[in-house]
Amino acid sequence: MSSSKSDFDPKLFAKYASLVDPKKVLALDIHRWHTPRTLTMREKFPKSKMHVIMIPRVGAPPRVPANLKNLYTWLTSPEVSRREAQTLLQEMREDAEVLKGMLAEEMESSQGYVGNFWMGFKVDPSYRYLHLHVMSDDLCGSYMKQPRHFFSFHPEHGQFIHLDEVLSWFEIVEERFQDNLEVIRKKRLSLRYPDDDDVYSRQHPEYDCYYKDGGIECRFTARDLSTMKAHLEEHAEKTKATFIRRRLAREERARKQAEREARLAEMKRQENVEQDNRQRELDRNVNADEMDVVSEDRNA
Ligand SMILES: [Zn+2]
Repeated sequence: MSSSKSDFDPKLFAKYASLVDPKKVLALDIHRWHTPRTLTMREKFPKSKMHVIMIPRVGAPPRVPANLKNLYTWLTSPEVSRREAQTLLQEMREDAEVLKGMLAEEMESSQGYVGNFWMGFKVDPSYRYLHLHVMSDDLCGSYMKQPRHFFSFHPEHGQFIHLDEVLSWFEIVEERFQDNLEVIRKKRLSLRYPDDDDVYSRQHPEYDCYYKDGGIECRFTARDLSTMKAHLEEHAEKTKATFIRRRLAREERARKQAEREARLAEMKRQENVEQDNRQRELDRNVNADEMDVVSEDRNA
């Protein structure tokens, strides 16, 4: 049934973004969620265990495909005011926050735990329409296969810019805003062949782990991607174990709390029964006294 529907085709992102009802047109396994402002699709080539793509929907100018080619275009097009540029990104941020909650639930049922999530843009994206990556931070997806997949999402190598960082640029002086744009522009130029894995291999002689455990950096490095992937899986397993341990501890605390509350409720119930008994006893005595008074009156 879904074969008649549109598959995940990055060349068609601008078209998907213009659809009145994306759910009608997109294949079921691709469409994840949409709001009046954004459309989220499952990444067909996931680089992490959870990985979706959120795109802003086309609207009235300046929200048209020509201005929404990528982050750099959106931030520099003369048709897009600073305020408009910021508003669209804030809307994506709000929707992405809701989406994160849904992905967390999905991750818990499919993976048995919830990891951390990244939301960000690639400096030199492979898809030609502005899109936000919302993904778990494990880089253990089924399509983590090439050097460029690892390095372009690595949080420390500057090819992946977090949405919150971009939003923070709007809070600073114009000069600094321009500096940041210049950094993006230069990075884009330095990646003239973004799909060329040799370029990445030359820039990075080894794969370096990015995990931080309680603020302490993992210093692990590997000469090849498969060794690094095995290492990342170990981190994911550790994250899962911690998640499960914390959940069990939470459940144990809740169980003890429920037990305490049940004990208190039982004590209260017994106290009430005793109080009722005492009250009945008192009432009986009062009634008996009254009877005595009545019979004394009659006798008088
Ligand atoms: Zn590590």
